[in-house]
Amino acid sequence: MEILNHKTIKGNSGVWEIVIGLEVHAQVTANLKLFSNASAEFKSLPNDNLDLLDLGLPGILPVINSIAIDQAIKTGLAINAKINKRSVFDRKNYFYADLPLGYQISQFKDPIVGEGFLKIYRTDSTEKIIGIERLHLEQDAGKSMHDQYADASLIDFNRAGVALMEIVSKPDMRDWDEAGAYVHKLRNTLRFIGTCDGNMEEGSLRCDANVSVRRPNDKLGTRCEIKNLNSIKNMMKAIEYEAERQVKIIENSEKIKQQTRLYDAGQGVTRSMRSKEEAHDYRYFPDPDLLPLVLSSERIDKIKKTLPELPDELQNRLKKDYELSSYDARVLSAELEIAKYFEALAVGRNSKLAANWIITNLFSLLNENNISIKESPINVKQLGELIDLIEEGVISNRIAKEVFEEMFDTSKSAKDIVSKKGLQQISNEDELENIIKKIINNSPEQKNKFLEGNEKIKGWFIGQIMKETKGKANPSMVNSILIKTIKK
Ligand code: ADP
Ligand code: MG
Repeated sequence: MEILNHKTIKGNSGVWEIVIGLEVHAQVTANLKLFSNASAEFKSLPNDNLDLLDLGLPGILPVINSIAIDQAIKTGLAINAKINKRSVFDRKNYFYADLPLGYQISQFKDPIVGEGFLKIYRTDSTEKIIGIERLHLEQDAGKSMHDQYADASLIDFNRAGVALMEIVSKPDMRDWDEAGAYVHKLRNTLRFIGTCDGNMEEGSLRCDANVSVRRPNDKLGTRCEIKNLNSIKNMMKAIEYEAERQVKIIENSEKIKQQTRLYDAGQGVTRSMRSKEEAHDYRYFPDPDLLPLVLSSERIDKIKKTLPELPDELQNRLKKDYELSSYDARVLSAELEIAKYFEALAVGRNSKLAANWIITNLFSLLNENNISIKESPINVKQLGELIDLIEEGVISNRIAKEVFEEMFDTSKSAKDIVSKKGLQQISNEDELENIIKKIINNSPEQKNKFLEGNEKIKGWFIGQIMKETKGKANPSMVNSILIKTIKK
């Protein structure tokens, strides 16, 4: 049997493979909305950022925001995609209270960006290429609020008309971990180039997951689309639940109905919102108020030159310049803030040691306390001082971990903690010899065993020495002094 290196669903009738394609809506970082002169800022009072166009008043013409266009081109280049020199804005017609125009201006047949791809890492560290179908620009809708009043609904139009990039993947992901890695990578890329802040809690990045199941490598099954997932964690859970739901249905000899579903994070289930047939006739047609968008090669080339270092490039550079393992380079380039922290820490220091302190010690405390590296109570300078104390032989690695935890809790400096608590390493040869002599004299039995060549007993002695010195004995000196002294 073929071995699949992704997670599958084990049903009663055998193994099922999951197929996932993602549609990500990313709010474009731009001063103004896509076609009106209202501000696109997120934090404003309800209905503060409005223009007549956003309210659908008659006779107002859309004028395209060239910054939003540049941002879409930049994003297309960063996801290795083809930029289409001619694209068309269409009207996607539907009726909803938060869409006063009665249509959304979007792109259908001719999007601004065509096929591209992103590279992800699976949980076993192997690489995988995820294809991207297209990226198109469209307007966001307003926001309906139903829970403020018992007898009325409210609408906030601040978001109406804000530029979104919809980035549609191919159905290339095979389990929820791959889907999670893809959104991480995409979000990271958008943040690196500054085209979307990637903030999922605030809704600047939203994700729809299309999920189907099939026998391994069989043809595609019928899919369901789970709408508006607002965190990577919830998306992954929703996919797992949905795939299991579909397997149960198929194994029950029923058919999957193509549906739009919502994820209820509280209950951990997906629920049907509407069937695809009811909702899908949008009667797209080219917006007669807008000419096709034509881009020059010069414009595209100019934007290409403004692209900063991308996540893959950063990862390669860290690996090469700091002689890191592939894994370390990958982890440290996972977010721009992490990479910045690492590079500042590594200046003039042992880069491997710097990487280790971030990945093993700092990350575990940050994760435990659920805080980001930006909010770390230990800044680069403070961690640098601690690492320097280790490198200078003032404290041992073991003591350093203790000091580190106290720094994390109190934000005190490493030097302060070490001197106040008298944690300096004992590196004085005479002092160490005296301590070791005392232990040997108190343990004649163990001493004999050692001299008879029992190797294990050496570990016992070292343990006693560390206990006696509260871990402060310089470990690189202990060994030789022990051997020298015991043979006297
Ligand atoms: P629609 O316009 O109905 O949303 P698309 O063809 O644009 O349909 O596909 C939307 C998303 O669904 C894409 O990300 C695509 O990769 C994914 N997709 C298509 N078919 C399947 C399938 N059988 N299983 C899972 N995902 C799929
Ligand atoms: Mg869709």
